[in-house]
Amino acid sequence: MEGGLQRYRVVAIPGDGVGPEVVAAARRVVDAAGERFGFTVEWTEILAGGAAIDAYGVAIRPEDVEVCRGADAILLGAVGGPRWSDPSAPVRPEQALFALRGGLGLWANLRPVKVHPALVSSSPLRPELLKDVDLLVVRELTGGVYFGERQEADQGRGERRAVDTMPYGEDEIRRIVLLAAAMALTRRRHLTSVDKANVLATSRLWRRLVDEDRFRFPDVEVTHQLVDSCAMLLVKDPARFDVIVTENLFGDILSDEAAVLAGSLGMLPSASLGEDVTAQGGRFGLYEPIHGSAPDIAGQDKANPIGTILSAAMMLFHSMHRADAAAAVEGAVATAIDAGWRTADLADPSNQDDGLVVVGTTAMATAVIEALEATVPA
Ligand code: NAD
Repeated sequence: MEGGLQRYRVVAIPGDGVGPEVVAAARRVVDAAGERFGFTVEWTEILAGGAAIDAYGVAIRPEDVEVCRGADAILLGAVGGPRWSDPSAPVRPEQALFALRGGLGLWANLRPVKVHPALVSSSPLRPELLKDVDLLVVRELTGGVYFGERQEADQGRGERRAVDTMPYGEDEIRRIVLLAAAMALTRRRHLTSVDKANVLATSRLWRRLVDEDRFRFPDVEVTHQLVDSCAMLLVKDPARFDVIVTENLFGDILSDEAAVLAGSLGMLPSASLGEDVTAQGGRFGLYEPIHGSAPDIAGQDKANPIGTILSAAMMLFHSMHRADAAAAVEGAVATAIDAGWRTADLADPSNQDDGLVVVGTTAMATAVIEALEATVPA
């Protein structure tokens, strides 16, 4: 604290493509929220992804991972792009994501999906299916088949064969289920645990542990759902879900499927959390929009910054314990959308008379800041 003003340390990682544009937009919103709510953010910027490969020859330097470890939170844009897209290259942009998630023990990935009523027409689903959609996918992020032992197909003669393994330990499963149940308690108190228990041993363990631990969250209604039927229900009846908890691979697929509901990839935020607690008692975390670096629109002030702005709102909530500021930022985003501000991904170019104002990344952030300042007195 300095002169009564709470100070937070955040590492900004703009990354590649549209990353620098959306991170700059979200930083402006966080700083504006700080002015209204009486806190300041000390930003440190580091390189990761393609930008770091160009500058240092690696996707992220170990000393920069340490800089992240010393902060309260990390705000990331996106990494990758056509210049660094060779999957067999020894150094690849996404290695930065694994280094951050694995290196900083960020084992829980949270992806909330809400459909703003004014954006229903941007979604490929029928409007009546999208009414009341408000779900949270909690994905286990550092275990399972992405981290298990693997054997690449060898280049010898005969039939080529490759092996991936999917290990899960009791503690890894228990902690993510407990976190998801705690989230459900702050929402509509329903938890859907997704597995493939009719086939996979790890899923049978998962299901058994969920049942064993149910007594820890008696006020949460728990449903087990097989992953294949969950994938179907997500498009058939998405409003039935509150919190979905699942392992790494299933979560990767289901959370992308759920993202389609919101109409544009540019709208959705995410948070990755672990055990570590910040100096202020918040949870250390990494916050990023779910979209990639969108190289097709990079550098043109066209990217939708809302996914990153809402990620920053999650950062205010989880890492900084500023529920007031987080709610104000979310409210300001909704107000800006209600007022008709749209980035190009949310606009319908065939309809010029819809009263909407199509703006770029910077102006969208300004609309959010103005809505925030209009609702929160100075
Ligand atoms: P993408 O999410 O970057 O883009 C998919 C489509 O959505 C594009 O048409 C893009 O213009 C549009 N889009 C994405 N974000 C938008 C935004 N904020 N506003 C408006 N439109 C937006 O996915 P992709 O094209 O498959 O991947 C591009 C690069 O991003 C690849 O190198 C990929 O590896 C990388 N990527 C990175 C991350 C990450 O950093 N976490 C995640 C996914 C993809």
